[in-house]
Amino acid sequence: EVAAAASGLTGPGRTSDGYAVKLLANVGSAKNVPAADEAHAEGIGLFRTELLFLDRAGEPSHAEQVAAYREVFTAMAGRRVVIRTLDAGADKPLPFLHQHGEPNPALGIRGLRVARQRPHVLTAQLAAIAEARAETGADVWVMAPMVSTLAEATSFVAAAHDAGLPTAGVMIEVPAAALRAADLLRAVDFLSIGTNDLSQYTFAADRMCGDLADLLDPWQPALLQLIGVCGEAGRDLSKPVGVCGEAAADPLLAPVLAGLGVTSLSMSPRAIPAVRASLAARTEADCRRLAALAVAADGPVEARKLVS
Ligand code: PEP
Ligand code: MG
Repeated sequence: EVAAAASGLTGPGRTSDGYAVKLLANVGSAKNVPAADEAHAEGIGLFRTELLFLDRAGEPSHAEQVAAYREVFTAMAGRRVVIRTLDAGADKPLPFLHQHGEPNPALGIRGLRVARQRPHVLTAQLAAIAEARAETGADVWVMAPMVSTLAEATSFVAAAHDAGLPTAGVMIEVPAAALRAADLLRAVDFLSIGTNDLSQYTFAADRMCGDLADLLDPWQPALLQLIGVCGEAGRDLSKPVGVCGEAAADPLLAPVLAGLGVTSLSMSPRAIPAVRASLAARTEADCRRLAALAVAADGPVEARKLVS
């Protein structure tokens, strides 16, 4: 174990010259925490809370929510847990929220937008997260999905603070939010880029549509450019900017994301070892050089080729 950590196989995410990129796990419940531990994740970068709300007629009770959140926070005592508030949407509809069909659910009332019509769902969830946090030693960060504007980011942070949650951020999943990353980041504690949705909305390509996989490729230079806008805001303001979409699991892309200013990568636990090894094989200067090459490439195929 000690030898493995010393050789960089299980330690924190680092380039060969010591530049830190936190390696975090995506989880949907406490059931996924052992896999995160096995991969030596430094924390949880995305705790999706939808699972608790699925397949039921009504909202989970306060006690049920506190119990589910506490289970993860307790298991991660002393480490970071980034918990995302409910992200009901086109790909994850909830009976109690979506009684009326929308012609374009991906562009409709989803993520934080639900709070416009049903503010109680958000405030109840934040209260449950705050109660669970108070009883455990985890470093709990809360974030909202599907944020488009500074006004939305500001109102979410205010709601989190009102609930007693000191560290609040927003996901970057919409190009408008990425373009204004610096403004948003001044109002929040951190950003977390959801590349699955950011690709979908940047390329106007349904993320469930396999025929459009080339447009949804995380190596698309336009997507990388938007990530770079966020990373630069993070560097300027000295605040964390993570990636928690599928892009974070690509070992070849990890140095590029680090070079764009991304400070943490959150992924399925099984992807962590290869990403850790890939970062350990580059210097910080390599990462910046690779990032510049990838953003300047003519397309995703060319970007991959230049970086490999
Ligand atoms: C994303 O959009 O990249 C993301 C991490 O959120 P989800 O996949 O749950 O929409
Ligand atoms: Mg998303």
